[in-house]
Amino acid sequence: MCGISPGSGPTSDRWPSWGWPERFCPGEGNPCYRCLYPGPPPEGAVPTCSQAGILGSVAGTLGTLQATEAVKVLLGVGESMAGRLLVYDALGGSFRTVRYARDPACPACGSLD
Ligand SMILES: [Zn+2]
Repeated sequence: MCGISPGSGPTSDRWPSWGWPERFCPGEGNPCYRCLYPGPPPEGAVPTCSQAGILGSVAGTLGTLQATEAVKVLLGVGESMAGRLLVYDALGGSFRTVRYARDPACPACGSLD
């Protein structure tokens, strides 16, 4: 089973402008959410959405990308984004892809294979 979830990134001094759609397919040899984020950030290290705000157009862009990934999974077409983050920098007007690997010691998926 795969999950596609929104991500959020560093916030600028003006407003949150980063984010990434994520596709997690644990049990298929792919990394899961906990492989990427082993635990929550320290209390107070990251502002909440209610503290930092949300730029609606960034959320809309990421939502559209997530919906596309969901359609790809349902139809079994296209190149999988599992193990890759597509990072969107709205202020810079750019996208980049970051690969990440499965953690064999991951407490969530380390024993699934
Ligand atoms: Zn994992």
